[in-house]
Amino acid sequence: MARATSPTRKVPPSRLSTPLSEVGGVTPALVSLFARLGVLTVGDLIRHYPYRYDDLREISQISSVANSTSTEANVIGIIRQFSHVRLRGRVKSKSTAVIDDGSGQLQAIWFGRPYLARQLSVGTRVFVRGRIETTLAGAKMSVSQHRVVAVGEELIGELVPVYALTAGLPNRVVRRWIARALKDVEADNASIGELDPLPASVNARHSFRDAHWALRAIHAPASLEEAALARERLVFEEFFLLAAHAARRRAAYAGARAPDFASMSSAKARASFAADVESLMPFRLTAAQRRCVAELTADMLRASPMNRLLQGDVGSGKTAVAAAAVLLASRAGHQSAFMAPTEILAMQHFQKLGPRLGASGIKTALLVGGLRARTKAETISRIKANEVDLVVGTHALLTDDVEFSSLGLAIIDEQHRFGVLQRAELRAKAGGWTPHTLVMTATPIPRTLAQALYADLDLSVLDELPPGRRPVKTFVRTPEQKEKIFAFVREQVGEGRQAYVVCAAIDESEHAIHSAVEQAEELRRGAFAGLRVALLHGKMTTRQKDETMRLLAGGFIQVLIATTVVEVGIDVQNASVMVVLDADRFGLAQLHQLRGRVGRGAEASYCILVASERSGEERERLQILASTNDGFKVAEADFRLRGSGDLAGTRQHGQSELRLADLIRDLPVFEQAKKEVDVIFSRDPGLKTAANAALKRALDARERSASLRITS
Ligand code: ADP
Ligand code: MG
Repeated sequence: MARATSPTRKVPPSRLSTPLSEVGGVTPALVSLFARLGVLTVGDLIRHYPYRYDDLREISQISSVANSTSTEANVIGIIRQFSHVRLRGRVKSKSTAVIDDGSGQLQAIWFGRPYLARQLSVGTRVFVRGRIETTLAGAKMSVSQHRVVAVGEELIGELVPVYALTAGLPNRVVRRWIARALKDVEADNASIGELDPLPASVNARHSFRDAHWALRAIHAPASLEEAALARERLVFEEFFLLAAHAARRRAAYAGARAPDFASMSSAKARASFAADVESLMPFRLTAAQRRCVAELTADMLRASPMNRLLQGDVGSGKTAVAAAAVLLASRAGHQSAFMAPTEILAMQHFQKLGPRLGASGIKTALLVGGLRARTKAETISRIKANEVDLVVGTHALLTDDVEFSSLGLAIIDEQHRFGVLQRAELRAKAGGWTPHTLVMTATPIPRTLAQALYADLDLSVLDELPPGRRPVKTFVRTPEQKEKIFAFVREQVGEGRQAYVVCAAIDESEHAIHSAVEQAEELRRGAFAGLRVALLHGKMTTRQKDETMRLLAGGFIQVLIATTVVEVGIDVQNASVMVVLDADRFGLAQLHQLRGRVGRGAEASYCILVASERSGEERERLQILASTNDGFKVAEADFRLRGSGDLAGTRQHGQSELRLADLIRDLPVFEQAKKEVDVIFSRDPGLKTAANAALKRALDARERSASLRITS
């Protein structure tokens, strides 16, 4: 990690930022094990919270519980017999162990835990917790929690914190180092201020105990109540920092200078702009699009730069809203940059927007990595000479030689595909001011969540689809049904429609592409023989991609076999079937995106998710898609299943990582924390008072570590 070895690293402000490698007794091997858990510093270590506790305050003797029924009990013993059988159907496997604790034996049973076959065997010492039932054959326990207990490991009489682990790093080792780190930190005066970002008044209002207490109590609680109290405080603290971070960025934005849009603020200019927006696209804007355009317009006429997130389900028509913003910028005499995550998407935007905007006098250029050197150089010089009003491109827009004459608007499509730094780099292309920024995302999340997660952005939501859309009919099928599925595809193609088949490739690795290429060949010769089949993947040249997209959009290609490059943004209205192979390997949000490639025209469309029968839980997850077309509902269900822990874009957004807090479950706490933050920032926006010094320090430290993390 760059942060540990960087020669320019300043003296650490406190013990908290000390890298583990500089902690006495931590071996390089241990450093790299902890790194796998995202734990790089002493501060990270004490914030590596347990996700549950094994309640070992009462370990029962088997003999004393063997005759009870329906009681929860904890038992520690040695496995005398062990068997593991695979089952047909949803549960998949059953493991049985006879456990002996010296006082008696019981039979412990687990369902659906295939890994137990490797973890447990005769002679293993285990802790098991679960419900006991007495049968004629003796005592049985259906196990809810278990843990292998090392010989000599003292377990009795406490609540044992259970941590996220990695192979080679057992729970007791994690626990020991955390305990040591806590001691260290408590002895370090510089850490004390940094540990508690909450101003005294906030602590008092919420009757919180101090930060040290909370940290000690979460790692080594005397009771579950104590653990819950500690969690409450720490969750509040996480949300508080999240909100404070956002408030700070907002304040920075509000103080920044916006590009001059004054020429558009007269009533006359606005009226003529409004009329032009109406004729910009070949369709009538939806009410939601109109509302979002109005929100953008209001922002862009202000003296401080816009920083807005446009959120809308797949196909809700975000591009048209973005086009209106481009029109406004150009009327005000400024250039716009429109950055998309893939060349394919950039080319599509260029092809669709170019002519439309051209009719309004806006000159558009394309800038992607794959252009010929000469074309690229020419485009770059035209941008600099202000001969281009809108540049549509990829990361290629960020290269140093791209300079704008007057960048007034930066649009970032599919923002979750970009990092914070890339967005900042694009904005930095405007010389003397901060351009208006519009970020767009089709990974919809509920409004309250979005406000928490993207608290530094203003939010516009397209909550309405263009008229005439028919919901995509979605089915979950097995690989055995492939023949039928492909016959259906042929049928649709016979009726003039087009189809996508997405292959297992979840990334654009060599291997994944290889498999897509192979599958394409197989399908071309087999199921789709005689049809016009093409292949699309990320490693093709710009020219090839461009050509493929044109043939697809023009209706020539009947079946497109693709990796997930089609996931983002591709818009072909005549496509009516989306088949996703190995659908269980994709996240729900990603599948919803893939599904969004069809159902864009007036024809009935179909999405067929192919997943093998073996993955029962997975199929259940996929059924959510079959049950709704509403991206917000899909997202909500997805969060419920996975927790908000790895919400798309959270990390990239550069916000504090929520380690303990769950945005869904703890949302009311976020709202309380946000209220406190708003009061603090309204009174002391620069955090200059002594009461807010700790908060300022914590935010500074966080920003430093966030930027280190991004660059390392
Ligand atoms: P997304 O929000 O997913 O980026 P797009 O901007 O690609 O959606 O729009 C999806 C499709 O809907 C495009 O073909 C676009 O031309 C069409 N569209 C957008 N707005 C309207 C509208 N108001 N009426 C009819 N069609 C629309
Ligand atoms: Mg789009």
